[in-house]
Amino acid sequence: MTDRILIAGSGQAGFQCAASLRQDGFDGEIVVIGEEAGLPYQRPPLSKAYLKEANADRLLFRNADFFEKNRIDLEDGRTVTSIDRADRTVTISDGRTIGFGQLVLATGTRNRRLPLPGIDLGNVLGLRSLADAEILRAKLASASRLVVVGGGFIGLEVAATARAAGLDVTVLEATARLMSRVVSPPISDYFLAFHTASGVDVRLNALARAILDDGAGKAGGVELGDGERVPADLVLVSAGVVPNAELAEAAGLYVHDGVRVDDLLATEDPAISAIGDCASFPFGQDGLQTRLESVQNAVDQAKCLSRRLVGHPERYDKLPWFWSDQGPHKLQIAGLTAGADHHEIRGGLDEGKLSVHCYRRGELIGVETVDVPGDHMAARRLLTQPAPVTLEAVRASGYDLAALMKANAARG
Ligand code: FAD
Repeated sequence: MTDRILIAGSGQAGFQCAASLRQDGFDGEIVVIGEEAGLPYQRPPLSKAYLKEANADRLLFRNADFFEKNRIDLEDGRTVTSIDRADRTVTISDGRTIGFGQLVLATGTRNRRLPLPGIDLGNVLGLRSLADAEILRAKLASASRLVVVGGGFIGLEVAATARAAGLDVTVLEATARLMSRVVSPPISDYFLAFHTASGVDVRLNALARAILDDGAGKAGGVELGDGERVPADLVLVSAGVVPNAELAEAAGLYVHDGVRVDDLLATEDPAISAIGDCASFPFGQDGLQTRLESVQNAVDQAKCLSRRLVGHPERYDKLPWFWSDQGPHKLQIAGLTAGADHHEIRGGLDEGKLSVHCYRRGELIGVETVDVPGDHMAARRLLTQPAPVTLEAVRASGYDLAALMKANAARG
């Protein structure tokens, strides 16, 4: 029997799990198998600072010394290809078989591939990895017309950067508003106004039907559902992701929009856990299976799992929070706001900032802000207090979340 902890995936969650295990006192072997070549790095800057600065070293979580000192065996440039649950072994793409005491699946997601004619043409790109970002950065430098398919966080971040660099930019969003899956309508409206004012041509309810050939095997434009043709010499497809869960599924584990885990982040096999973007876990009082794509979720789940693997199990119940930088604006979200039945709005584009308080059945479930970091931080504290925060209490505070947080803290 080995006490080796084997981690599949060397992204945000896999790296954090390995680092936390050492911090938490685990003394056994840690092996991290990572598909991407090189040291683990953070993805958020890929659609932000990296496109401008191109400084790959600044993306690294830690340098090579860290892995050596902490006896973390990073095996990069290879994948875990199968799991034998009975033998407690995995096979690796280089042909080896490795045993494990505990296996952590931290395999993340991959970009959704749209079944569009022309999707394989040159200059049709996706953005997930550092390698993708390097290609995108180089192409942006010589392109003049960018079409972004998908008006979510990543597509809009790139759109803002490309527009600031002087490109003509069109964003095609299939639904009726931007970032519709993750933010409330007032936030969508705010960013629609911002991007439009910056000169980005934002098309809502716009379905891409085909990517057009420029006659030389490269993208020449995008055809919409109504037949309109939007010219382009570069197309970024940013239309969501799918979890990398096939490995778990092939091993007979339950998979439904990700690898299903319980509130201890364990699968139905006590020797196999899943964390980060690839994991579907029970969220909130209703225990609804939820899969999140964020740094906070990857880091906090990795830390929580590490605690369990060293003998201190804790339920995973951390507050989700997110951010997105679009042009000069910082969007921050505390809590999951999709289920809100009431919004209270402070500020707007004229004031250059916005706070949207999201309620369900009279209780605050989340706060979305643009350029109001104080509200975001206060919301994160308020939403982790045991007692629910009511609409009446927020109104009575004059919508001052920081004051309310201080008053609650003083009351104990
Ligand atoms: P990943 O970081 O995706 O790591 C998974 C790794 O596993 C990958 O390297 C993958 O190649 C590897 N892998 C897959 N299968 C195997 C296998 N069988 N064997 C071995 N390795 C395997 N989040 C935010 O909170 N804020 C942001 O502003 C933000 N911006 C983003 C911008 C971009 C461009 C992208 C792509 C993501 C952004 N995110 C942001 C999301 C955030 O980066 C992810 O939520 C986070 O990286 C998830 O960590 P993870 O470890 O679960 O997955």
